[in-house]
Amino acid sequence: MARYGMLINTKKCVGCYACRVACQMINGLDSDKAFIHYEELETGTYPSVYAENVPVQCMHCENAPCASVCPTHATYTTDSGVVLVEEEKCIGCKYCMAACPYGVRVQLHSGVVEKCRFCYENGEPGNPPACVGTCISGARVFGDLDDPESDVSQAIAKYHAQPLASNLTESKIYYVR
Ligand code: SF4
Ligand code: SF4
Ligand code: SF4
Repeated sequence: MARYGMLINTKKCVGCYACRVACQMINGLDSDKAFIHYEELETGTYPSVYAENVPVQCMHCENAPCASVCPTHATYTTDSGVVLVEEEKCIGCKYCMAACPYGVRVQLHSGVVEKCRFCYENGEPGNPPACVGTCISGARVFGDLDDPESDVSQAIAKYHAQPLASNLTESKIYYVR
């Protein structure tokens, strides 16, 4: 069984927002709702400090805090590690929004609270997910974290990619910064 994850290389990201638009389109989101947001983070040490625009989305955390607080078990994790929301079960209580340390949960106009699904359909993630397929600079790589030969595993090893905040949760999104 695969364990899916993604690498985002902020050094290749040109900040064009194409990933966010592609995600909004494939998920039928209105323009005021998005599963990807951008955070301006500072890196380096003085005087060589610079700001970078970092795309942030659901990290598909191991032992996801959003799933453990969900009173209806609408939020769950697949065998392949993808954290999903069963929309029929969601009562819109927003407990998951409060529990998510990355602020990536979005309440849709329907009341359902959603987030990145790795473009999951019919029991499989996107191949590739829309944000990966649309990225003009190849900043995004998706695949099986447990397969050392997969593109994503090779890229993580090559760039020594790290989770955005390893002290918060065990994330399946890795960053090159
Ligand atoms: Fe849940 Fe937030 Fe982790 Fe995604 S990033 S699995 S929404 S806690
Ligand atoms: Fe679960 Fe929906 Fe409540 Fe979130 S808003 S905790 S997914 S029922
Ligand atoms: Fe959106 Fe799919 Fe990319 Fe997740 S994997 S951010 S749902 S396009």
